[in-house]
Amino acid sequence: MPPSISWPEGKRFAFTIFDDTDAATVANVKPVYDLLRDCGLRTTKSVWPLAGTEPPAIVGGATCADADYLAWVRQLQREGFEIGFHNATYHSSKRARTLEGLDEFARLFGHAPRAMANHTICREGIYWGSDRVTGVNRVIYNATRLFRNTDWFRGHVEGDEFFWGDLCRERVKYVRNFIFADLNTLKECPLMPYHDPVRPWVNHWYASSEGTNVRDFNATLAEANQDRLEAEGGACIMYSHLAKGFFTGGELNPRFNSLIERLGRKNGWFVPVSDLLDYLIKVKGEKILTPGERAALERRWLRHKFRVGTT
Ligand SMILES: [Zn+2]
Repeated sequence: MPPSISWPEGKRFAFTIFDDTDAATVANVKPVYDLLRDCGLRTTKSVWPLAGTEPPAIVGGATCADADYLAWVRQLQREGFEIGFHNATYHSSKRARTLEGLDEFARLFGHAPRAMANHTICREGIYWGSDRVTGVNRVIYNATRLFRNTDWFRGHVEGDEFFWGDLCRERVKYVRNFIFADLNTLKECPLMPYHDPVRPWVNHWYASSEGTNVRDFNATLAEANQDRLEAEGGACIMYSHLAKGFFTGGELNPRFNSLIERLGRKNGWFVPVSDLLDYLIKVKGEKILTPGERAALERRWLRHKFRVGTT
């Protein structure tokens, strides 16, 4: 059974978003944030602190080296949005560059990042790829993937040129791993945030709900699901790329617009990812994952992953 949480300020449920910054520019995401802000939502926007020096790994976007973009991101921070970390930049970064990126993040935003998510195939991905799962679940994961390079992700491998696990543990509080279909993330992963002793470089892991692009986001946040999230007193951390179809052709996606307005009228606790996770630790205590819980959680995620084919 999912835990029954008493939310602050008499709120009935919690909802937030971790926005993966892929493809984001001021032009394509500012209108989305204007809507979130005007509806009373305060969420987490990730950034790349440094400009790239190589082509993007799969997808790029604006970085904090762009003055106009940085000014807008800082404005978001002043308005109560959290700024999160999405690796140093949009391609693989060796240790020194990751350190530079973390230092630059702190210089720009006044503190180390509290929440992060790995960016796609960047080699410094921490416990990423097949390292997201263990034991028989890793065997299943590898057997069903065409991408056979199981040693690609090195962020957690001590001594490797891409290693930054110690920096992650020192500076970052929350790292994202599993994604589930249900809008109520806490129902799918009642243990979160949790520490996993076999992944010692990450302080606390969080899970998310499926909202990778505007179509998936709208499906997950459909009216019936919003009402159920509220009735269950649950919590959602939507994992999304807000540059993927939410604002196109000079207008907000109308369905997204109306779903967010509807959600905003509810008595929800709409705070950034780290505030939500801090609160869960405060009321539930620090959770250390047991081997049985790890195996069950990984199995549940693999079922979702094979059903929908995304992250
Ligand atoms: Zn990304």
